[in-house]
Amino acid sequence: MNIKDNIEIIKQRISEAEKKSGRPEGSVKLMAVSKFHPAEAVKEAFEAGQLLFGENRVQEASEKFPPIITQHPQINVHMIGQLQSNKVKKAVSFASCIQSVDRIDLLKEIEKQCSKLERTINILFEVHTGEESKSGFTTEEALSESIEAVANGQFPHIIPCGFMTMAPFTDDEKLIRKSFITLRELSEKLRRQYPALPMTELSMGMSGDFEIAIEEGSTLVRVGTAIFGERDYSK
Ligand SMILES: *Cc1c(COP(=O)(O)O)cnc(C)c1O
Repeated sequence: MNIKDNIEIIKQRISEAEKKSGRPEGSVKLMAVSKFHPAEAVKEAFEAGQLLFGENRVQEASEKFPPIITQHPQINVHMIGQLQSNKVKKAVSFASCIQSVDRIDLLKEIEKQCSKLERTINILFEVHTGEESKSGFTTEEALSESIEAVANGQFPHIIPCGFMTMAPFTDDEKLIRKSFITLRELSEKLRRQYPALPMTELSMGMSGDFEIAIEEGSTLVRVGTAIFGERDYSK
């Protein structure tokens, strides 16, 4: 199996899940999560038509992506892993979106660095919805405080595009679904509360659970293993 075939298969499965859940064709975007895979793998995916990529670690992404983006400016890379404040400066120099915003201090640092570069950046609020995952806002109060600050104009270089979550790592489909439902319901509530903010994106679903995520309203699935194969963490 090669990367191109894998992408075709995933797109087919996304399309079937859209149909099954009565959602418009093409309403779910596919992100290829290329962490731990080399630039050659990214290029292979690009040649198969893939333009959206996700990376976890700033250092790795900053070595891999800027040369590819220079060559193919239509490629976008989103940061999806926990982000330390001291890595923000580098991240905003090449990423088009930070999906893993989990605290107000991170917003402050993103604003500071983007203001220096005179650029705006898209962000998603990552929400902790499953017992086993560690990342994301853990309380609605902290999340509301951050959204309120954005709504009040405190972060003019930041565009809040929606929400992201990771379901727990389990075979229990009910628990996975529950996590996605939690994010969808929370996003609906916050969208009603802040109708002026463009928070339409629901980033949820990975290789093992993206069809469930699509049934529960995902607009963007983050697929790594099912496209690029197993990751070699020893590298
Ligand atoms: C690694 C990762 C993915 C992709 O996971 P796969 O199971 O390989 O598809 C998706 N989202 C996040 C946040 C990740 O860290």
